[in-house]
Amino acid sequence: MKLIFASGNAGKLHEAGEILASFDVLSPLQAGLGPEALEVEENGSSFEENSRIKAEHLWNLLGNGSASDNGFAVFADDSGLEVDALGGAPGIYTARYSATGGTDRNSANIAKLLSELQRTGAMTLEQRRARFVCAVTLILPDGVHCFRGTCEGHIALEPVGNGGFGYDPVFVADAFPGRTLAQLPDEDKNSISHRGEALGKMAAWLRQHNL
Ligand code: IMP
Repeated sequence: MKLIFASGNAGKLHEAGEILASFDVLSPLQAGLGPEALEVEENGSSFEENSRIKAEHLWNLLGNGSASDNGFAVFADDSGLEVDALGGAPGIYTARYSATGGTDRNSANIAKLLSELQRTGAMTLEQRRARFVCAVTLILPDGVHCFRGTCEGHIALEPVGNGGFGYDPVFVADAFPGRTLAQLPDEDKNSISHRGEALGKMAAWLRQHNL
């Protein structure tokens, strides 16, 4: 069965391809769709709601499952960072935390996160506790299924490392202390990440149902 991933984020697509290596994962572009496949307002109030909005948009565009005989499902990921010292922010606003966003280690998003933590005086490891959250919604002809993953850790004092994407250069997972996610080999990040956990649960569910 083909799995079409409702994402245009190169980092997410790369990770999903690795985590779901035994499945046939396609981007909307690879499935022959245009930019409209990803043009949807994420106006939900949780990661789960936003991932469902993205998945349903793609599912509807593909004909409400009428093409399901072709053997495909769609899935979407909504993810972000919850920082305890910031009351759980940026949460569902992680991608749009700063006005200009950005995805590299010098991005405005990372700069804003570090300056907010400095402003609150959160300098110790315990004070900088945070987690990545990932909600995945899978839509098949038989219905909608949601899977959640989390990755506990803390926010580093400065960006380190060139791997991964997004906030990886400032996130240190408890499972790999002393290195940011951007310093880990792909397989190590995927083995403990929020996306690895959520997509791992989705893969197990698909296998259980012989899909
Ligand atoms: P979304 O595309 O609306 O789900 O936004 C996700 C936001 O969280 C983006 O800013 C991503 O860069 C960030 N993000 C999600 N997962 C990761 C990750 O695994 N590493 C680093 N940043 C991530």
